[in-house]
Amino acid sequence: MFDLVIKNARNLDEEIIEIGVSDGKICQIAPKITQKGKREIELLPHQYVSAGWIDDHVHCFEEMTLYYDYPDQIGINKGVTTVIDAGTTGAENISVFYEHAKNAKTNVYALLNISKWGIVEQDELADLTKVQAGLVKKKIQELPDFIVGIKARMSKTVVGKNGIIPLQLAKRIQKENQPLPLMVHIGSAPPRLAEILALLEEGDIMTHCFNGKPNGILDTDTQQIKPLAFQAKKRGIIFDTGHGTDSFDFHVAETAYREGIKADSISTDIYIRNRKNGPVYDLATTMEKMHTIGYSWKEIIEKVTIVPAKNFHLNGKGKIKEGYDADFTIFERVFEPKTLVDSNGNKKITEEQIRPVQVIIGGQQYECKL
Ligand SMILES: [Zn+2]
Repeated sequence: MFDLVIKNARNLDEEIIEIGVSDGKICQIAPKITQKGKREIELLPHQYVSAGWIDDHVHCFEEMTLYYDYPDQIGINKGVTTVIDAGTTGAENISVFYEHAKNAKTNVYALLNISKWGIVEQDELADLTKVQAGLVKKKIQELPDFIVGIKARMSKTVVGKNGIIPLQLAKRIQKENQPLPLMVHIGSAPPRLAEILALLEEGDIMTHCFNGKPNGILDTDTQQIKPLAFQAKKRGIIFDTGHGTDSFDFHVAETAYREGIKADSISTDIYIRNRKNGPVYDLATTMEKMHTIGYSWKEIIEKVTIVPAKNFHLNGKGKIKEGYDADFTIFERVFEPKTLVDSNGNKKITEEQIRPVQVIIGGQQYECKL
């Protein structure tokens, strides 16, 4: 007998599958499962199932004052089974975050900020004495199942007069702690985007890829995507949306789409204020924005499941596959118009919404609260 059997589950290929779960893992996937479950969930005909959604850029350490939130508020409540906190904390405070995160129902991982106190203030990389490779290494060794990468925020307000130096330090730290991916936030210059991309390598993640700032991927004179973005894509640099309060522009994302550049992963950069007041609200709303640009639901789901799981080496996550973790998001497609707003106040109307209704994490079921 399985712990749980999910019945009448529709995937985005419009196939009906049944899933048997035991000990928090997926044990069987078949059109029909005859073995009983201690619990059985029967999905409604219009409900879909996917692997649990992963939001790879959030801020959810509640003890911070600048960017903070609570993992379950942005996780299970919003249809997200796994969140990756993107550098809210550094080597000095990540252990406290870890103690909180362990109590969440949502799976929580973290990128370690190279600045030792994380984002306690807006300019965490203006003082380079806060970047201590030894401390970083020690924490990574101490919390190997929690820290899945490192983070450096490379924009003017963060780095002060230090220009590109913090990124050079981040790359050195990354090399000493392989194979951890590096996520780099881009924004206003200095440093210039060209200098940043020159240092990034295959597997590194550029977040806020569709920001509407002059130092972004769109050339504001020609209204075309800068050649450096195509070169970066070709070299295997990962483009992550990281929507945020300030960092997602419909026009940039649409121009990129038209010219053949897509986001690899879709994430929110959510925290309490842009969750409550917008323009982010939740991962589903960011997914709807990508859908209005032209991305299919199937690729959108891949960009919040398989892709982030691969980029951050989350083994056993991101797919509905035997042996994988029993993390699922159950959602509905709702054919009702909704106004979507980007970070610069531009609006688009979607005719179709995606609405998570429940999540299953390690076989445990939770209702979403949108
Ligand atoms: Zn962020």
